[in-house]
Amino acid sequence: MDIQEWEQRHTEAFYNVKETIPYLDGMFVAYNSNIDAIKHLTEADLSRLIGLFKETEIQERIETYPREIKDPLDFMARLLISMREGKAAEIPTNTSDIHEWLKGHLGFDYARMGGQAGIISNLLACLGLKKVVAYVPWLSQEQSEYFAATDNLLHPKVENGKVLLKHPREAFKPNIGSKVNWILEYSKDLQVSCNGRNFMVPRDNRLIISSRPNWLRLDMDKDVYEQLDSIFPIDGAMLSGYQMIKEVYEDGSTYEEHVARSVQVIEKLKSLNPELRIHVELTSIQNRVIRKAILTDIVAKHVHSLGLDTVEVANALNVLGHEELSYSVIRKEENGIISLYQGALQLLKDLSLERVHVHSLGFYICILAKGHPLTLKEHRDSLLFSSTLAAAKAIRGDIGSLMEAEAGLEVPISSDGIESLENFKLYCTGRKLCTREEFGYGYLYGPDHDAIIVPSKVVDRPKATVGIGDAISAGAFVAMLARMKQKKAINVSPI
Ligand code: ADP
Repeated sequence: MDIQEWEQRHTEAFYNVKETIPYLDGMFVAYNSNIDAIKHLTEADLSRLIGLFKETEIQERIETYPREIKDPLDFMARLLISMREGKAAEIPTNTSDIHEWLKGHLGFDYARMGGQAGIISNLLACLGLKKVVAYVPWLSQEQSEYFAATDNLLHPKVENGKVLLKHPREAFKPNIGSKVNWILEYSKDLQVSCNGRNFMVPRDNRLIISSRPNWLRLDMDKDVYEQLDSIFPIDGAMLSGYQMIKEVYEDGSTYEEHVARSVQVIEKLKSLNPELRIHVELTSIQNRVIRKAILTDIVAKHVHSLGLDTVEVANALNVLGHEELSYSVIRKEENGIISLYQGALQLLKDLSLERVHVHSLGFYICILAKGHPLTLKEHRDSLLFSSTLAAAKAIRGDIGSLMEAEAGLEVPISSDGIESLENFKLYCTGRKLCTREEFGYGYLYGPDHDAIIVPSKVVDRPKATVGIGDAISAGAFVAMLARMKQKKAINVSPI
């Protein structure tokens, strides 16, 4: 693969997509946003934290591998596990006690918008879409302050039974608590010593303590649901946060009701604009019952597009009964990319999707059902645009405008990504998915699907990494929709 050619294609794609964005009427983005409190841990912080406990107790708790943070010791145990392996983890907590404890015993460096829907709303608003309608069921005043201060960003607000669209800062619900997640970042080579065991952190990574207060419900207010037409015109919806759904609630209600209501929202959106496309952005979902319900009851047959990373591909395959494929995706050996491709294809089929976009560090794969209105080149432009956004987000930390996103073009394409693709070439040509030349373009033609595979730009020393996956999925999905709208406008306009 010619790296220079891919650089050129990135640049062209960026300007092609930039031209199409004004064709979009609007996007709807729901449900999850929160406040991220970020703390970069130093050796001194860590030894101070460890010093608050008996080291033998920490060790004992590590052995129980807590899956939920119920007390500070659970937190300490999962932090050390994550650091020992250099592996990112996201663990839920159901009370605000741990938030108070961390505020009191550690403190944070800074806070920012978090949650997929929050991050995506801000990004799309800053890219200059005509209208972005965000919807967060638990929009508190504090939370609303983290939304971009742009006129195109709106949120439903019920006033005297009527739904109006206002900026989130004027649409919050009074007297509602905020959902604050803690992101504890640590660096490679940090020395850790606890209970006579010493280790060095193998790579930069993070532990996320995600707040799931008991009052949290992934639901749409009745008035907003009934007057959903008030958010139109919109061309697409990006939905995320379904991982918040709990199996059983304190009041005895179960996940089934929430799943059914989520589907009703999707169906109503589609009925209001039959051409509307729905994208679901997945994230790690610990509970297997919920993970499966999201995939088989919400995503399958109801939505068009799915975005996820490699770990999520493996997790999804696992609950859908493809254990072997799931393990070979997660093992990430030299042929990992083959399993990833097969896995993404399996998801497209099992879930009856139009599009599955997998992002990995250095390359993206997008599997497409046959018959999509865009050409493979147009889909490729969408993916390359999203690679530039990812790079811009990684170097800058945030993207304030389409102009700022251009900074991503300066970031070089990942040579590891190119290498992964080279490893995949023989498989593709051998299986007659493409010729060598077609592979060079990133185009694959299966019997029942097509696919795009592109190398991506990777920032060596990123300023931030949280939310890059969301930016990739949102960028590519919106670019695709904008192109579809542009084509339609050109086709119907009089000559
Ligand atoms: P998040 O949920 O925080 O967005 P994901 O795991 O969903 O995280 O997505 C992370 C994605 O971001 C990776 O798949 C990779 O494509 C991209 N990415 C991560 N680090 C960088 C970087 N330094 N430069 C460019 N892209 C990156």
